[in-house]
Amino acid sequence: MNTKSKIALSLFSIMVVIFIIMLANLIYNFRNYSINTAINKAETIAQSVKHGLTAHMINGIMDNREVFLKEIENLQGLEALWLVRGENVIKQYGNGLFNEGIRDDIDSHVLKTGKGQNELHESILGSSTLRVTIPYIATNTGPIDCLRCHDAKVGDTLGAISMVVNIDDLKTYGVSSIAYAILILFVLMIVILVFVTRLIGPYINVFDSIKEVMSSAQDGDYSHRVITENQKESKEVANWINGLLEKLQTTLDDIEAKIQVFITKQEHDKHELPDPLMEVNKTVTRLSDIYNFRKTIEHDEDINTVYERIAEVLRTKVGLDDFVIIEADNATHTTKEVYIEKISHCIANGNCRADRTNSLVDSCQFKKLCSKFNDDSKCYLCVPFSISNDLDIVVSIVTDGPKELKEVRAKLPLIHDYVDAAKPEIVGKKLMNRLEKSARTDPLTGLFNRKYLEESIDKIVSQSKRSKIAYGILMVDIDYFKMINDTYGHDVGDEAIKIIAQTLVENTRESDIVVRFGGEEFIVLLYNCDTGYIKEIAEKIRIAFSAKKIKAGNGHFSKTISIGCSMFPEQGDTFWKCIKYADLALYKAKESGRNQVVLFHEELLHEENSLEANY
Ligand code: GH3
Ligand code: MG
Ligand code: MG
Repeated sequence: MNTKSKIALSLFSIMVVIFIIMLANLIYNFRNYSINTAINKAETIAQSVKHGLTAHMINGIMDNREVFLKEIENLQGLEALWLVRGENVIKQYGNGLFNEGIRDDIDSHVLKTGKGQNELHESILGSSTLRVTIPYIATNTGPIDCLRCHDAKVGDTLGAISMVVNIDDLKTYGVSSIAYAILILFVLMIVILVFVTRLIGPYINVFDSIKEVMSSAQDGDYSHRVITENQKESKEVANWINGLLEKLQTTLDDIEAKIQVFITKQEHDKHELPDPLMEVNKTVTRLSDIYNFRKTIEHDEDINTVYERIAEVLRTKVGLDDFVIIEADNATHTTKEVYIEKISHCIANGNCRADRTNSLVDSCQFKKLCSKFNDDSKCYLCVPFSISNDLDIVVSIVTDGPKELKEVRAKLPLIHDYVDAAKPEIVGKKLMNRLEKSARTDPLTGLFNRKYLEESIDKIVSQSKRSKIAYGILMVDIDYFKMINDTYGHDVGDEAIKIIAQTLVENTRESDIVVRFGGEEFIVLLYNCDTGYIKEIAEKIRIAFSAKKIKAGNGHFSKTISIGCSMFPEQGDTFWKCIKYADLALYKAKESGRNQVVLFHEELLHEENSLEANY
């Protein structure tokens, strides 16, 4: 029911109540008036009869009273008229004419008490009457002296005059008057109703329109406008509201359009209309979170911390509990798991489907979509992100079932926002890594350089001491290398350096460290090396290199190497001391005819001292 109908109904109800009260009051007053009028009329007739009878008595024509009474009885509305003789009069004059005795209780009561009485007989459909009896009291005052003729005292009830008055005419008059009043009141009510509704109708219409518009705005739809008729005041109110809504809608549209540049648009439930105001609030919160995230990772030291930071966001803001962040190197076509939240689900390095196809890999779409995923009981969604020309990131999200995965899909824009925000930092920190690595890498061989050894030696030593792990140190130098340069040129010399580097890598383990120490001199740190084993490895390297063929022009040649060995910490308490000992052993190998391995021993120190003394 609209407001207009509600107000009309309320107004109508109030008026009906007033109408009923007024009508009840009218009926009550009219009834009282009618009864009083009938009583007055009856009493007037009774008094007239009394006076008439008195006159008859005085004139001594009492015997003719019947004619008089008949005449009076013929008066309109008088149904019956009779005289009632009191005890005194009956005693003195007998029972009188026919029908002058007591007829009912009223008659006897009036004779007994000397007080008039009346009784109303009402009938809605039938005829209504008023029964009235007034007493005839003996008096001797004034021109009439009852005691002259009556054997009675003053104040005795000589008799009574009774009558029945028909009051139907008064009833008819009352009913018709009430009917008129009802009609007038009803018409008045309708007129008031129409007038009031006409007067307030336009305001109510505006109110209804405002209600509708505000209800839509409450649900996030600001496109509705207040509709008005021509009233000045309501038009003004409507214009204010419409102007406000217009501004709100334009501003929100504007903000939404601008914000899409910074963050990924989120899809909404089709059944649920988003509230733009709440959306803006959410978006601003998202932007602020992303800004804080970006600011934080700017100050993070290395790329691993950035990945940990992304993982934290995926855990806390997106609500993921099983995921892996994978780095994909486009240049080498290799992948590396850089962060694992729970366990790794990928069985092989490289050839990541999401990275290769640069599209989402969703296990809900096809079973066994990715051959590298190793757990068929789980669902997965792998999301690729292009970070730079040669680097992609894949976030591989794992859930227990398809329902959870669908929920994750809805949160993809949030993941996109955070990874996008981290892109510059990932690129920057990767570049830094590369620069740092290149500063510690020899460009010719790809091995670590002397700078790396100098920087990491403390770490190696502390780790070695902590875990009581020994290092075997090899100092390797090509024999008569200068001759290669002189005979075949620098390029062939470089080639020989590359081959020795390759030989060293081939004959050592991943945990060993191979360093180009300078020129054609190399240091190999053999991790967890046994004293009895070091010479064996060195020999293996020496033989392997001597078997290598170094290309020069159309032909090739072979070269030999000399190797000096020492053991850390067995032979020296500091690392640099042990390197020095390995160098001494190398010197000994050269001196002893080259192409051989010499393990450091104490005498070499004495030999060196005596050599220094000779100089
Ligand atoms: P020895 O058997 O005593 O070691 O004799 P050698 O000729 O190898 O002597 P030495 O080790 O002193 O020779 C070092 C030479 O290596 C000197 C330098 O010209 C050459 N060299 C150093 N670095 C490079 C390089 O990067 N490329 C080339 N082609 N030659 C280099
Ligand atoms: Mg040499
Ligand atoms: Mg040398």
